[in-house]
Amino acid sequence: MTLADLKAIVRTVPDFPAPGVQFRDITTLIGHGAGFAAAVGHLAGRARSAGAQAIAGMEARGFIFGAAVAVQLGVGFVPVRKPGKLPAATIGVDYALEYGSDRLEVDPDAIAAGTSVVIVDDLIATGGTALAAAALLRKAGASVPIALFVIDLPDLGGAERLRADGIAVDALMQFE
Ligand code: IMP
Repeated sequence: MTLADLKAIVRTVPDFPAPGVQFRDITTLIGHGAGFAAAVGHLAGRARSAGAQAIAGMEARGFIFGAAVAVQLGVGFVPVRKPGKLPAATIGVDYALEYGSDRLEVDPDAIAAGTSVVIVDDLIATGGTALAAAALLRKAGASVPIALFVIDLPDLGGAERLRADGIAVDALMQFE
């Protein structure tokens, strides 16, 4: 499937989670067997080219794509989790949201120092989530050469913010 085919099977849900927001919904993409496989294949090709030694994905939709990419590459998967979910000792980072703040955590035992970890998530908007994940992975001793997304919303500037932090960005499609 072409990238244009993939874009056509992403659903847009108006007014979610708030009035005026056009939510780009990957439910329809992952529910389409050929579409899901093609999206994972494209992401895996880019992660392989970047020399990924491990894949990190953010809870929850980043797990869907990130774990599949890790399996295709035969490398490990690092879950970047919401607070209070991991059973062993964690390291965490707090980050600002439009309203309030949030926190991400990883288990440092999941990351060998010096590992090149590629971030995978469904969508980049402002980039706050991916920047926080990258900060956390770096804190754990990893390097983060690139972050990969199914969808980029370029008007929200996230990719620019990641590049300014030294992280390359690639996405399978963009929505205005
Ligand atoms: P950011 O931190 O502003 O870049 O927002 C990205 C995070 O919010 C990702 O983990 C996405 O899953 C989620 N997100 C934001 N907007 C959308 C959307 O339109 N569709 C799906 N997820 C979204």
